[in-house]
Amino acid sequence: MPTPLSRSCSVSDYVSVLDEKELSLDKIRLRNTLRKLRQIPIDRKDRADSAMLPQEMLDVLAMLAGLKPVYLLGRGFDDRAWIEGVLAIAKFQGLHIVAGPKWMPASRGLDFLPEWFRTLVAETQTDKASVYYICRTRTISEELKAIVSDGQITIEQEARLLCYPECCVSEHYQRGQLVDALLYKLVSRAAKNDEAKMRELILNDVSIGIETEEERSLYAQMTNMHAAPFTSFHMCSDCSSGKSNAANLISAKFEAIARTVDGTLVDQITLASL
Ligand SMILES: [Zn+2]
Repeated sequence: MPTPLSRSCSVSDYVSVLDEKELSLDKIRLRNTLRKLRQIPIDRKDRADSAMLPQEMLDVLAMLAGLKPVYLLGRGFDDRAWIEGVLAIAKFQGLHIVAGPKWMPASRGLDFLPEWFRTLVAETQTDKASVYYICRTRTISEELKAIVSDGQITIEQEARLLCYPECCVSEHYQRGQLVDALLYKLVSRAAKNDEAKMRELILNDVSIGIETEEERSLYAQMTNMHAAPFTSFHMCSDCSSGKSNAANLISAKFEAIARTVDGTLVDQITLASL
């Protein structure tokens, strides 16, 4: 896995990638928060959840430091104790908490698929479960309230609010389109293009195996993902191939915050990603 900066760099080298004027690197507050986050009684028997935990902690710290405008609580990592623990810390620290449904892309870019299919998939994929958007400023919380009431978010907003590169968010959305395109291929083949049967397969969430070359190719494209170190996003092809440095730059900033607060957090995240 590529590391944004060499392991031999000193702490000051790492910190130099951060614009300290724009960040509130109150190390005592960040260290205290990390200590409280580590005390949340997570069920560590779930190994997948345990592996995500150190990164979630870094995301909370990055939000507190002002690098990441919004920490998204309960999406992906949805351990109950974690959600309640982080909410209690956020309330204690006077942060803004906006509760609402998971935001969805403003444009799903699926015009190449029939309208009935797009409508049905949008209905079946809509997850009404509430998540929590936590931020430091009133301005951002007002923006979040508007997004939550609309239910939709643009690529630019998602990239800016979560501190992800726009190129990587854009490709993440394209990956979502491939998932829907593959589903369409699978149900059309299994139902021999009979729309009523295709609807039935989707509504009953019937599992259909991949068989054709085209299906295999779509599956390979949508699962070709490379996590950006020390972040919660996947790199786009330009960032993972080195054509763009956008993801690496953001990774370096997140790593610098972890290293500034507590080196053991860096080790935990590195271990979890192996
Ligand atoms: Zn990218």
